[in-house]
Amino acid sequence: MDTPDAELRGVRKQYPGGARGVRDVSLRVERGEFFSLLGPSGCGKSTTLRILAGLEEPTAGEVLIRGESMARRPAHRRPTNLVFQRLALFPHLTVAENVAFGPRLRRGSRSETAATVAEMLELVGLSGLEKRYPAQLSGGQQQRVAIARALANRPAVLLLDEPLGSLDLKLRVQMQRALKHIQQESGTTFLYVTHDQVEALTMSDRMAVMNEGLIEQVGDPATLYRAPTTRFAATFLGDTNLFEGTHRDQVLDCAGIAVRVPGPGRFASVRPERVSVAAQLGDGYPNRFTGRLEEVVFQGASIRYQVRLPSGVAVTAERRDEATPALAVGTEVETGWPVDAAVMLDH
Ligand code: ADP
Ligand code: MG
Repeated sequence: MDTPDAELRGVRKQYPGGARGVRDVSLRVERGEFFSLLGPSGCGKSTTLRILAGLEEPTAGEVLIRGESMARRPAHRRPTNLVFQRLALFPHLTVAENVAFGPRLRRGSRSETAATVAEMLELVGLSGLEKRYPAQLSGGQQQRVAIARALANRPAVLLLDEPLGSLDLKLRVQMQRALKHIQQESGTTFLYVTHDQVEALTMSDRMAVMNEGLIEQVGDPATLYRAPTTRFAATFLGDTNLFEGTHRDQVLDCAGIAVRVPGPGRFASVRPERVSVAAQLGDGYPNRFTGRLEEVVFQGASIRYQVRLPSGVAVTAERRDEATPALAVGTEVETGWPVDAAVMLDH
């Protein structure tokens, strides 16, 4: 395989005072990838980025960029740029001057710098706004300037730490598309940090799910969603019904119910969209249980149902609106799913 653009090998970070930033992180980000780190607040995402950027010294482990060790290489001499949620635009400089800042520092010629600025503003869709000041731009436009300014340095890896966190939902979705487009157009390797699963799923070529300073699983979004290998990955990425029990003869013996499963394992994860609900289910449900419909939540394109089985187990189903006839809360219903809907997990 080619040399990855960014690589961490057995990286640990213990902060002064004892807090564990990351416990053991190994990671390869290939050239041109949009790679995301996804995990809950405090799991070590920012620490990982800051170690790559050279803003934190790892307690142990190695950091390589394009195959070169970054040991003792200070932040300003690394081929990385970091974009934050909190913008750090220079308020007294115009859009063009903000973007020109890095190239000027590196003493690029006047015409080269002008060409880079024009290229970057075109890339982020801000051509024509060169002479504006940051205060004269919307939040989304300011974030585009920040990205243009970072890309003007032609980093080997652009590090983005929850850059869209402060935008409202509609603008965030717009900016997600814009960022993905910018990444593809520029061919720059992006290492993107987010706690938002939808953001990670929709934007990434590959992603890593992090938990408590460790990487739980790495893969492309579809694989992570459809074939999680840990309980944490299965529950953090999307919703799931998690059954725990003892496996024997293709059955998981759970408290009160026997679930037919495709293979061995201690846990079965069944996505709500694979679960059906009806007053009476048709044929073809090896897993079929009767229970009381406890909750119906209208979500627009889909409806969520919660069914309480006599054993006390709750089963969640999510169906397309038109796929299920109206069911009344409190009535007895059947719920079921195919054997292959379950992903088996050991831990
Ligand atoms: P995330 O970005 O995933 O929310 P962080 O990398 O910021 O997580 O933090 C990981 C852990 O390290 C947390 O427990 C946090 O409290 C701790 N931490 C982060 N920065 C510092 C610091 N400068 N000093 C001490 N502890 C820190
Ligand atoms: Mg963070």
